[in-house]
Amino acid sequence: MPQLLLATPAMAAEYSNWFVNRRAYTRQSDRPHPESGRHFYYRPGSKAGAEVALEVEDVRRHLAGEITLGIYAINPGNQRVKWMAIDADYRRSLDDLLKLQYELQQDGIQAALEQSRRGGHLWILFETPVLAKLARIYIRHLAGKLAVQVKSTGPSDGIELFPKQDRIEAGQFGNAIRGPLGVHRAVNRRYWFYGAAHDLEAQLAYLRELRRVSESRLAELVAELEIPDEVSTTPRRYPPSGFQILDFLEPGQLRRVGRNWVTRCPSCAATGRDRGKDNLAVSVEEPMKYLCWAGCTSSQIRAALGAPAPALAR
Ligand SMILES: [Zn+2]
Repeated sequence: MPQLLLATPAMAAEYSNWFVNRRAYTRQSDRPHPESGRHFYYRPGSKAGAEVALEVEDVRRHLAGEITLGIYAINPGNQRVKWMAIDADYRRSLDDLLKLQYELQQDGIQAALEQSRRGGHLWILFETPVLAKLARIYIRHLAGKLAVQVKSTGPSDGIELFPKQDRIEAGQFGNAIRGPLGVHRAVNRRYWFYGAAHDLEAQLAYLRELRRVSESRLAELVAELEIPDEVSTTPRRYPPSGFQILDFLEPGQLRRVGRNWVTRCPSCAATGRDRGKDNLAVSVEEPMKYLCWAGCTSSQIRAALGAPAPALAR
């Protein structure tokens, strides 16, 4: 690793504008944990136990390679994010990231690919902070279209999205990811973006030029999403029931957004969620197709509507 990296306060301030969503942060430990042997991330606290807020000087030291910061995705004040990152670290993960990068390009989105220890991080920057939920809907859909697995809980392969949550409550943090251009303490090396020469100035110039995605463009992309055909593990041994979800929804509560009707998901509503009344999407063209962006299954939605799916005939 080149030692003479002149990280200036101006660089740190600019980097903070791009990447820092809130002043809580994590740091990668300089030494491995005595038991696990791993370099872990922790939230620095003062001696009095109070939270320590990130300063521009911390960011400068991160860029200089003296410390390594983990940054949080969501600003809890408005549930918005300045960026979205896709983390992949399994075998062949680079293939998946390149597929995603290509597909994003088809939607006019430039995503920056950063190397990591075992795979990579793909970064999308927004012109102004966008709702975490909107960014997640778009990327999850894109991954689904490409058959790229999104990691679920427990040990499994798949990409991880940052933000990992649609929203966080006061006092919560969500998940942090290593700040771009940080040095991994375990191997004492820096992981660069593929798009530029391997020095700090060139890398920052590359990020500066990266096209930012506007909130209106993102909203447009989400409005144009197609609801996939229902994925069902049960064989279709009988003709479709003819269940029409629109028969069960209040017409006055439906809003047309792009190619879909949008309303509160009945299953989410049953547990007091989806106050924004926009989780359920029903295809205008093919109203048999509907989807809850928060992940409720079709049987949960039907049960909440009092129209459970009939059991399969034997
Ligand atoms: Zn739902």
